[in-house]
Amino acid sequence: MNKIGSKIRELQNEAGADIQIVAVSKTKPVSVIKEAYETGQRIFGENKVQELQVKQPELPADIEWHMIGHLQTNKVKYIAPYVSMIHSVDRMKLLRTINKEAAKNKRVIPCLLEFHIAEEESKFGLDMMEAKQILESDAYSEMKNIQIAGVMGMATFTTDVEKIREEFALLRNIYQQLKTSYFQHDAAFKEISMGMTNDYKIAIEEGSTMLRLGSLIFGARE
Ligand SMILES: *Cc1c(COP(=O)(O)O)cnc(C)c1O
Repeated sequence: MNKIGSKIRELQNEAGADIQIVAVSKTKPVSVIKEAYETGQRIFGENKVQELQVKQPELPADIEWHMIGHLQTNKVKYIAPYVSMIHSVDRMKLLRTINKEAAKNKRVIPCLLEFHIAEEESKFGLDMMEAKQILESDAYSEMKNIQIAGVMGMATFTTDVEKIREEFALLRNIYQQLKTSYFQHDAAFKEISMGMTNDYKIAIEEGSTMLRLGSLIFGARE
């Protein structure tokens, strides 16, 4: 087993079988992704459409590509044929576009609603009111080609563990409220995507179902 493979295995053991690891391969070359693939990793995360477009055709077709970064509506069409999940749905217009492009490809694309849980203004995401507006809209109820599979969030970049814990607890709380109000009988709504290299241990404790890990697996980015 190569070094990347044993790192992923170690992390998977730590997280437990119920948590999925998204190996965040942004900025990393295809050769490095292949190393992870060869040891069994299938879920990879990228944050730029252009980069994903270059890598996807060069790698095995059974890779599940997750778009985790901020997404412009005019770029959805490029990834709609193959993307396995979009973590960064932060506005109605984007959801509408994903639905339209998924329909063109005769697909249903799983999406996560991204919530703004951090203190920093720079981070993207919905608040509860905006999410409710989307989920209660007629337009949403008519969308046949998207599947809302859960929520995603990024904590504040800080060393204050209790602050990070509060933000992750808030996201879990949002998830539970949405589950109760809108998705009680929808088994597909089950994901809480939270936890990165610096805060994944706290995310596990706070109920994450998907860790998005980059530098911890592949080493620091340039
Ligand atoms: C880059 C990125 C990650 C992974 O970051 P690391 O700190 O390297 O683990 C996770 N989520 C998003 C949205 C990212 O852009």
